Amino acid sequence: MEETTGNSCIICGHEKEQGIRIIDEFICETCEVEMVRTEVQDAKYPFFIHQLKRIWMQNNA
Ligand SMILES: [Zn+2]
Repeated sequence: MEETTGNSCIICGHEKEQGIRIIDEFICETCEVEMVRTEVQDAKYPFFIHQLKRIWMQNNA
């Protein structure tokens, strides 16, 4: 069994090496850039917020 070198992005679910860590979770570079670019009116915005809330709640339970 091979060891995974990357981190699993909580937004897109892909294994990536580049990205940021928020608390215990990993967000890949691509999703981070997209998230920063996303406007509140954007359809993707609630999805990002939802994912981030999940992290927040997991760590504050
Ligand atoms: Zn991602």
